[in-house]
Order: sequence, then C-alpha cells, then structure tokens
Amino acid sequence: MLAHWQAGLTSVRAKTKTTDTYQGFEQGPIRPPSEARSLLIRITRNCPWNRCTFCPVYKGTKFSIRPVEHVKRDIDSVHEHVEMLLGVTDASGRIPIETARELAGNTALEDHQAFTAALHWVHAGRMKSVFLQDANSLVVKTDHLVEILTHLKSRFPSVERTTSYARSQTIASKKEDELRAIREAGLDRIHIGLESGCDQVLAMVKKGVTKEQHILAGLKAKKAGMELSEYVMPGLGGRQLSEKHAVETADALNQIDPDFIRIRTLAVPPHAPLFDDYQAGRFARCTDVMVAQELLTLIEGLEGITSVVKSDHILNLFDDLKGKLPDDKERMLGLLRVFLAMDPQRQRLYQVGRRLGILRRLGDLDDPDRLAEAEKTCHMLGITTENVDEIAHQLMTRYL
Ligand code: SF4
Repeated sequence: MLAHWQAGLTSVRAKTKTTDTYQGFEQGPIRPPSEARSLLIRITRNCPWNRCTFCPVYKGTKFSIRPVEHVKRDIDSVHEHVEMLLGVTDASGRIPIETARELAGNTALEDHQAFTAALHWVHAGRMKSVFLQDANSLVVKTDHLVEILTHLKSRFPSVERTTSYARSQTIASKKEDELRAIREAGLDRIHIGLESGCDQVLAMVKKGVTKEQHILAGLKAKKAGMELSEYVMPGLGGRQLSEKHAVETADALNQIDPDFIRIRTLAVPPHAPLFDDYQAGRFARCTDVMVAQELLTLIEGLEGITSVVKSDHILNLFDDLKGKLPDDKERMLGLLRVFLAMDPQRQRLYQVGRRLGILRRLGDLDDPDRLAEAEKTCHMLGITTENVDEIAHQLMTRYL
C-alpha cells in the first residue's frame, strides 16, 4: 500500500512540475471550523488521494502543488493589503465600514481576493492564525514547505499559530528530522482525518491508510512537537460495523493521545461515492440514536489520555459533547445517556430542532418556546418517528 501510494505521489509531482503561470491569490474550498478566523494560504490545490468514498469535496478535480514562488507572492500580496488596512484602523483598532468599502472599490479586480482575505483576517482574526490549504500540505517537499513557512513568519512575525491538514499516510512516510524542521519553521498544529481506527472501516471507505499508520503518524507528529488534532467520524462504519468502529477508534486514540479529538458526524450527500453504496443497499446508514450509542461506546473506551474533545461541526447532533479528558468524561457520557433514555417522540423533537437550528443542545428542550417551535415544525413538515432519520439526514446534507 505504501509503495503504491509513493509511486502515485511521484507521478503527481512529476505532472505538477509544469510551467504553471501565476493566476493571482488563491483560496481553496475548505478549512477546519476552528480556523474560521485564520488567514488561508493555499499551497496545494485539491487532494492528492481523493478516493475516500464519504468525501465529496475534491471529486472531479486534479491535484497540483503550487510553485513556492506563487505561494510567496500570495503571502506578499496579503501583507501589502494588511499594511494598508492597519494604516486606516480607528482608535478601537477597527476599520470603519465606509473606509473598507472605499478601499474595496479602489482595489484592482485581480487583487480582490487578496484584499478580501486581508480584510477578513484583520477584522475577524486579529492576525493570530494561518491555515495552509488544501487537503494534505505535508505532501509538499520538506525544503519547499520550510521555505514557505519561513517566508510567512518573516512577513507576519506576530502570528501565534499556523496549522494545516495532513494525511496520516504522508506523515508516516516523512522522516522524523523533516517533521521537526517543518515544526521549527512554524507549523504548530496538524489536523488529521483519522475518521476511524477500524481497519475494516478504513478499507471499506478507501481511506488509504491503516490503523497502525494512523497511530504511527499521530505519534510522529507529536514527537516533532506539533499539536495534533484528530477528526473522528461517527456513523462511518454503518450499521454493520458501528460498534467495532467505536471500539477500534477509541483504541487508536488511546495509543495516540492527541491534543484534540474532533467529532464530525457522517453525512452522505448525493455527490459522494458512498451515496451509490447507500442507494444500492451496500451501506446501511446509522440512525441518530445508533450514532449516539456509538459515541457512548467511543467515549467509554477513551482511557488514560488527556485529549480535549471538541464538537465543533454543524453536522454533529450534540453541540455540547465536549470537554477535557479524563475530567469531563462522565459528564459527556451522562449527556449521551440522557438522549438515549428519552422516548422516541422527544428524541425526534431534538433531532429536528437541532438540525434546523431551533435547538442547540439537549437542555434547550426545557425551554417551552423552543420546544413548541420544534413541535410546530414537526407537525408542519409531517415528521414522525418513522421518517425523522431520513429527513434529518436530508437536512444535514444541506451543509455539504
Ligand atoms: S484524504 Fe481527505 S480530502 Fe482527500 S478524499 Fe480523503 S477525506 Fe477527502
């Protein structure tokens, strides 16, 4: 598997050594929710793997590595706009809206994206964090990545955190001293899509990595001094592998002890290959109640680690399923047990209320106004305990 991947990578790299001309400042389609205030710097385009069947993000696109000089031009361009914007802030450090409009109007069309990125960063992010896009920045040659990070630091020395997505497969194949050089050049945190620690699930969804490689990659990233964020995907094993998925994922996380465990529940939009499996009956989606049970098994299985659990994705049923291990473990388990013990009618109200933004957390069911709104919505849309999972899933796929 490793040899196959490396061979594929080499051919991708060969293809990307083209006479790529600079197309102006670029941004990719996604970033982690925790990077909403970050400056996004695109160093590669799309995903070099692109085979995960649950992932619709880059399907139909071609991967490429952007030339270092182009990335540096992007950084310089944002830097110029930031300097200009900092020159027009008012006494409270904000940019008056009229001034921002006027500056936007005077910005050349080809500079607009860099201007918008700079404005967002100055305004929302206070220029504290940067996220390198797209799906797997560590696929870039180490010396090139170091050059980009060093340039970034020279332009924005006050940045406190630079992060990126990376695949376990790529990290596992990097030498330890390369990872340390990348960390020392300024990459503070890595976000890995672990999804599952169960080999059967990983193979089923074509993740292209094994549990062992996930563990090796996580430990290597930590050893290099990087903060580590591992995304797990409840529901990914379907009904058949639900329990195994939870048990094996907990075991992998226990061996890694990442800084963050981030929950991102499975949704299957029509443009993801897994949708075909679902329609053909090869993949049986879990109901929300099954996912809650799976989360209970997962969190029960987390032992001997000090990770922070985050539920920072709109697809998650429980916004408040978060806390620091081990101290908050019982509270998180308690929350899941409360939901699992509810009668199906009340579970239905919560599912619909949460998916439509009427309710945010379980405790909101005690608010009579919100409860009444959830009831009214279920009545209007004809949502019953029989069809609630299908409708809840349709609501989830709006976000993808
Ligand atoms: S590696 Fe990540 S971005 Fe690429 S296909 Fe898989 S989930 Fe999607």
